[in-house]
Amino acid sequence: MSETKHRAPHRTIIEPFKIKVVEPLSRRTLEQREAILKRAGYNLFLVQSDDVTFDFLTDSGTTAMSAEQWGAMMVADESYAGSRSFQRFEKVVREVTGYPFVIPTHQGRAAERLLFSLLVKPGMKIPSNNHFDTTRANIEHMGGEAVDLVIDEGRDPESRHPFKGNVDLARLDAFCAENRGRIPFGMLTITNNTGGGQPVSLANIESASKIYRRHGIPFMLDACRFAENAYFIKLREEGFAAARVRDIARGFFDLADGCLMSAKKDGLVNIGGFIALKSDEWLSNLRNQLILTEGFPTYGGLAARDLEALAVGLKEVLDEDYLEYRIAVSKYMADGLNRAGIQTMQPPGGHAVYIDAKAFLPHIPPGRFPGQALVCELYRLEGVRSCEIGSAMFGAFVDGAFRPAAMELVRLAFPRRVYTQSHFDYILEGMSALVARKTAIRGLRLTYDPPFLRHFTAQFEPV
Ligand SMILES: *Cc1c(COP(=O)(O)O)cnc(C)c1O
Repeated sequence: MSETKHRAPHRTIIEPFKIKVVEPLSRRTLEQREAILKRAGYNLFLVQSDDVTFDFLTDSGTTAMSAEQWGAMMVADESYAGSRSFQRFEKVVREVTGYPFVIPTHQGRAAERLLFSLLVKPGMKIPSNNHFDTTRANIEHMGGEAVDLVIDEGRDPESRHPFKGNVDLARLDAFCAENRGRIPFGMLTITNNTGGGQPVSLANIESASKIYRRHGIPFMLDACRFAENAYFIKLREEGFAAARVRDIARGFFDLADGCLMSAKKDGLVNIGGFIALKSDEWLSNLRNQLILTEGFPTYGGLAARDLEALAVGLKEVLDEDYLEYRIAVSKYMADGLNRAGIQTMQPPGGHAVYIDAKAFLPHIPPGRFPGQALVCELYRLEGVRSCEIGSAMFGAFVDGAFRPAAMELVRLAFPRRVYTQSHFDYILEGMSALVARKTAIRGLRLTYDPPFLRHFTAQFEPV
């Protein structure tokens, strides 16, 4: 189908859009970037975006919207109650998910807080493949425990399993049996963000659904990247090559009882989220809580124009030319990095590439933050902003000794529809210079260590 439809004799997967509105790309010299790094204490969270050329800090809320989305925003109905824009948004969510009950929220974590404050009580346990960090934090905030049951391959950066986001079904079944009466609902994150943007197979979702059903446990999808997950099923799972992505998505939504969504990912918008449910059992409680903290049930903390943009985005994200291009971006970057001699987690995820900094900079010990050193070097040489997921983020001092993280990763997360292939080619060209001088890259030492969430505000200096 769409793989070959426009292609032969071409091999290049093109951006399936042309550009109507442009933004200048800010450029700085190497010397300017060195001074900026020093001023920011070698922490890219403390660098201004104007000083960044290629911003791969996150794919969340950084999408370029389409002409149709901007157009829809102009005709939005900003009425407090019963807005036409809400009806349009609700209709699209119902079409995409099949769930009749739709609650808008201002982003994903607001949906989490609403649902968990209703259902999670102290001592309860919520299983998933991997919980995203805000999901875990919101469960723990209610006194619950967030339990990760991803398959072993999902924890192995080398494994090339096609569905590394799958949940371990035997462990899930045993977990549900052991914790009878203490599991208010079960979850699955698609794609598995914390595990590297890895997809979950439809067969795995179906089996998880049966297990939850057999134990009488409601099943919620964390559906932030549902379209990317559905496209991976089409590409990699036996029997789906000819299926439409929208039908694959409906297939997995049908297997669950509802979903939570941060629309800042596959909603193709800069802000927004929702809860959608098959049954109305929790509905009135959720709506009452929504009114207390987010706003009226027909806007949920958003402007009506945001709902309009989201209604269009949820349809655009299922376009298979878009998804082919989207999945090609991280593969293109991973292949290019690997060819240059930079190891990445395999296979690349849907929204991001993870460089293995421990393998690339073996001369820097974990206590000297090889991932953070690489983040700084990528910025110094190329103006690329990436995110360390290693000892700067997770390392801890235990009885005065530093306990490093299990892995030293550097994540490049790609905004949707923002950068073009020549941007990626330009970055890859610079990698030979990075590889050539890698033994000269020095580790870092902490000069300021904040009491929590170190990576946001810590400061470093080269050793
Ligand atoms: C981003 C994300 C969330 C939280 O959504 P926000 O919109 O950032 O609040 C929850 N789960 C997953 C899997 C995510 O990627």
